[in-house]
Amino acid sequence: MNTELLEKIQNLKKKRNAVILAHNYQSGEIQDLADFTGDSLGLSIEASRTDAEVIVFCGVLFMAETAAILSPEKTVLLPDKYAGCPLADMITADQLYQLKLKHPDATVICYVNSSAEVKAASDYCCTSSNAVEVVNSVPPDKEIIFVPDQHLGRHVIENTGRKLIIWPGYCKTHAMITARDITKAKEEYPDAVVMVHPECNESVKAIADRILSTGQMLKFAEKNSAKHFIVGTESGIIHTLKKKNPNARFIPAGDKAICPNMKKITLEKVLWSLEDMQYKVTVPAEVAAKAKTAIDRMVEILPSK
Ligand code: SF4
Repeated sequence: MNTELLEKIQNLKKKRNAVILAHNYQSGEIQDLADFTGDSLGLSIEASRTDAEVIVFCGVLFMAETAAILSPEKTVLLPDKYAGCPLADMITADQLYQLKLKHPDATVICYVNSSAEVKAASDYCCTSSNAVEVVNSVPPDKEIIFVPDQHLGRHVIENTGRKLIIWPGYCKTHAMITARDITKAKEEYPDAVVMVHPECNESVKAIADRILSTGQMLKFAEKNSAKHFIVGTESGIIHTLKKKNPNARFIPAGDKAICPNMKKITLEKVLWSLEDMQYKVTVPAEVAAKAKTAIDRMVEILPSK
C-alpha cells in the first residue's frame, strides 16, 4: 500500500518540480520520504537555496511561512492547513507592539517559532541553534526583548550573561518532559548521556549533560561514542538518531513528548497536497519584506556548535 503511495508521490514530485522538506519532529515515514530533513535553521537555508518550483513543507505553519518569505517566487505548500504551533500563537504582533512601546530603545529578537507578523515587528530572528550567537551579535549596551519562548530565553541568559525581557510563552510538547522522566530514565541507563532541547523547562535542563537544538543533537550523537542517549525533545527525532547511529540506543525522556501538530502531516496528505497544489502558504508583501530582514540575519549568523 505504502509502496504505491510513495510511487505516486515521487511521480507527482517530478511532474511539479517539487522538493519535500521535513522537520526532525515529523513521523519516520515522512522523514524517509523527504529530500531534506533538519531543524528550523537547516530547513530555512535549504528553502532559500532550492531550485525547485514547489516546496512541500512537512512541518508547521510558521516554517512554511518562513520558506515563503525566503522564496517568494516559489509555491510553498503545507499539507495540512491546521498544522500550527501553539508556542508561535502565544504572542501576537499587537502584543509585541505594546511591549515595544514600554521599551522603545530595545532590540527585538524573536524565535523562529513565531508568526510572520511578529517577525515583521522584530529586528532579528533566531533558532534554538543560534539564539546565543544572535544575542551576542547585539551591542552589549542594548536592551533586548526576546519572544516568545521563555525557556529558550532563560537558556540564552545563562549562556550570554545578558539581561533579556522575556515573553512567557512555552512549548506545550516540551512542557510534557519532566525532571522526573529524566531521573527515571537515568536509573535504568546510568551510563546514558542526557541531551535536552532548550525549550524544556529549567529543572530538566539543570540535570542534562547537553542542551542542544535537534540539528545539534544529531551532530553530537554522531561524534559521541556513548552507547545510550536519553533524549529530551519531541519524539520524532529518535527515528533519524537511530538511523544515523545504529549501534547506539536512544531513549525518549518519557512517552508524552509528541507534538500533535507535527504529526498532522501524513503520506496521504503529502500526496493530496501535490495533486491539488494545496495548501498554498503566502505572506502579504509588506509583512514579508519586513520579516525578511529579521530572517536574513538568522540565516547569516551561524551557530558555533
Ligand atoms: S514541538 Fe512545540 S514548538 Fe515545535 S511545533 Fe510543536 S508545539 Fe510548536
